[in-house]
Amino acid sequence: AGKGRWDTIHGAGLRDTEETIFDKIVAGDIPSEKVYEDDLCLAFKDVAPCAPVHVLLIPKHRNDLSQLRKAQPEHVGLLGHLMSKVGAVAEAAGLDDYRVVVNDGAGAGQTVFHLHVHVIGGRELAWPPG
Ligand code: C5P
Repeated sequence: AGKGRWDTIHGAGLRDTEETIFDKIVAGDIPSEKVYEDDLCLAFKDVAPCAPVHVLLIPKHRNDLSQLRKAQPEHVGLLGHLMSKVGAVAEAAGLDDYRVVVNDGAGAGQTVFHLHVHVIGGRELAWPPG
């Protein structure tokens, strides 16, 4: 498929080696309101929630997964782990029905290049999303 427009502009390699704000949150250098945590992942409340409940679920170590399209065979276990914990995260956040979102690329709204899963709910969610 070749490199995407945003990779061409910003440099995929640069993004994959840069630290992000999420590394500081995992390290505890920036405080976060934790919802769920285990050895591999951390879920915390988004600082700019787009719904009454908005939680981010992230791998503690990015492992070159700056965005979903970078997934390689070695990431399958981690990705499965993240997906398998969404239900526990939603329950811990008090959600019944909810939406799970991954923005993949700046043009889709991605601003932090450390893979993260948005878990959003607490209000009626329109479909299709904007
Ligand atoms: O998908 P996207 O990359 O836009 O998601 C990043 C999310 O991280 C945003 O929803 C933003 O509000 C959140 N964020 C945060 N705490 C920070 C920086 C960003 O919760 N310190």
